[in-house]
Amino acid sequence: ASFEEMGIKDDLLRGIYQYGFEKPSAIQQRAVTPIIQGRDVIAQAQSGTGKTSMIALTVCQFVDTSKREVQALILSPTRELASQTEKVILAIGDFINIQAHACIGGKSVGEDIRKLEYGVHVVSGTPGRVCDMIKRRTLRTRDIKMLVLDESDEMLSRGFKDQIYDVYRYLPPDLQVLSFLMP
Ligand code: AMP
Repeated sequence: ASFEEMGIKDDLLRGIYQYGFEKPSAIQQRAVTPIIQGRDVIAQAQSGTGKTSMIALTVCQFVDTSKREVQALILSPTRELASQTEKVILAIGDFINIQAHACIGGKSVGEDIRKLEYGVHVVSGTPGRVCDMIKRRTLRTRDIKMLVLDESDEMLSRGFKDQIYDVYRYLPPDLQVLSFLMP
């Protein structure tokens, strides 16, 4: 199937084509449709297969940018991966005016507070900093309807289990969960 046939919204298609993609990669062929249909998905994917791009595009498809609330949360094991995902979201979501923020350790808390109070649709972060922002009530979780656990096996092996569970406890019960594992 093509990106059009997957039912991706027009302004997002423009962003995908501007970014240089013509057709979905193998993992995108298999997983985009069930994700867009709202199903929980567990998938194995090596890096470089189009997984990060798929997270970006399905998150962009999911959020309602006419609202200012955080609607999707992506947790990653490293600052680099969390930042990379944020960048691809901002690039692909250019024409839908998406607001995204990377909530990661090692960056200023003041910047997190400023960005989150301004209002973003998507947060891509590492578990520790995200947990901290939720507990400070700077990151409001009430409207989060999608949780993405990227490299979830890697997050567990890095000892993030308690922090992920902590975050999870603050999220609404009606939540779509996507979990990506390394093969
Ligand atoms: P990712 O695993 O999403 O980081 O993607 C790995 C590389 O493939 C990156 O350079 C992406 O820009 C590129 N890529 C991802 N999906 C596609 C696609 N559908 N068509 C062409 N290139 C893609």
